Amino acid sequence: MAITGVKGFNDILPGEVEKWQHIEATARRVFELYGLSEIRIPILEKTELFCRSIGDATDIVEKEMYSFEDKGGNKVTMRPEGTASVMRAFIEHKMHALDPVARLYYMGPMFRYERPQKGRYRQFHQIGAEITGVSSPTVDAQVLTMLTHFFQELGLTEPSLQVNSLGCPCCRPNYREALKSFLYERIELLCDDCKRRYETNPLRALDCKSPGCQEATKGAPSMLQYLCDDCSTHFGKTRSYLDLVGTPYAINERMVRGLDYYTRTTFEMVTTMLGAQSAVAAGGRYDGLISELGGPQIPGIGFAMGVERVALLLAEKEFARRPDLFIAAIGEEAHAEAFRLMAALQRNGIAVEIDYEGKSLKSQMRRADKFNSRFTLIIGEDELAKSAAPLKNMDGGTQEEIALDAALIAKVIKVIKG
Ligand code: ATP
Ligand code: MG
Repeated sequence: MAITGVKGFNDILPGEVEKWQHIEATARRVFELYGLSEIRIPILEKTELFCRSIGDATDIVEKEMYSFEDKGGNKVTMRPEGTASVMRAFIEHKMHALDPVARLYYMGPMFRYERPQKGRYRQFHQIGAEITGVSSPTVDAQVLTMLTHFFQELGLTEPSLQVNSLGCPCCRPNYREALKSFLYERIELLCDDCKRRYETNPLRALDCKSPGCQEATKGAPSMLQYLCDDCSTHFGKTRSYLDLVGTPYAINERMVRGLDYYTRTTFEMVTTMLGAQSAVAAGGRYDGLISELGGPQIPGIGFAMGVERVALLLAEKEFARRPDLFIAAIGEEAHAEAFRLMAALQRNGIAVEIDYEGKSLKSQMRRADKFNSRFTLIIGEDELAKSAAPLKNMDGGTQEEIALDAALIAKVIKVIKG
């Protein structure tokens, strides 16, 4: 029996991969406009890194991590997200000594043991960005504007941006207590997960999808009413900078992120098109994370988007690559000429296809059709005899005779490149 792939781990085949390349290229192009540089981080990290950064009472650390002991007995984990690794690298390479302001992006696979479904897989891919060293709300607004810009460049009007503030270690404990006392009388309504984390992570009940939790949290106090003066000013300024540059957003007071390290501004790009998989991108400020991981007291902010979910939103769009030219050749001599021409044109930056087997003209034209090539050049015995062949523009239908002489290659390049 043939061996199949592992459940929740997908292949991305030609036809689909062009969409991925387009998403990745758009991210690189847009993020670099905002001064970000790429960082490549490893897939395997010490398990401790994620326990310490993401937090022990989170879904990721409690039940989703691909952790194992390697042959040397070291506890390692296949990264479930990128921020912890980027910050680990930032500290390890003392990047802050050179400049505390690092503006970084990454892309690559992440691993979480979840129940696979549309938009949720065990190996999935994120494109993420992180900016360290600035606590000013201008950077919060810039990160959100950059993310919005990215989706605009993809031509998507969905997803839409939701923002909230989760406060800081100074004001969040007060809110936690207020929320706990509010939930105390409604605790029986909470799902088992939220009951269990009532002490360790009560905020999760606010965005829990179970109907009981939604009922229990109806009318719950809002974090925004509990923000300290500094956090409140920060949130207000973030909003006014967003308004200043016309970045659209809505406030969602119930948004709490599933990772412990977030402070102040948190946000999600949400869609209504993917059912329960509504978050396409998510992130926030993490002013305590770098010091928590043993680095200096440097603030940071970032986000990660799920590439599979972005690809699903782009479902209807066409990204197939088209060759510039298909050369149909009939007969041994014409076939050799087509092969020679193809190689010369490819070396000059023109994408060319021929029929390797030299089948009938009809089947070669079917192949040209399948490739959807922009131009076709037909070389048969007649064409060789009169030393001229028709070069046809498949989009406009126009056709011109091209002399099969020493100037042929230059002429074809000129016509194709316009
Ligand atoms: P969700 O609420 O859907 O589980 P999350 O809060 O766990 O998302 P984050 O950890 O913030 O997600 O990751 C950022 C983004 O990565 C998500 O918004 C989503 O687009 C994507 N993502 C997360 N988990 C998966 C997964 N298992 N499969 C595909 N994409 C995912
Ligand atoms: Mg999740």
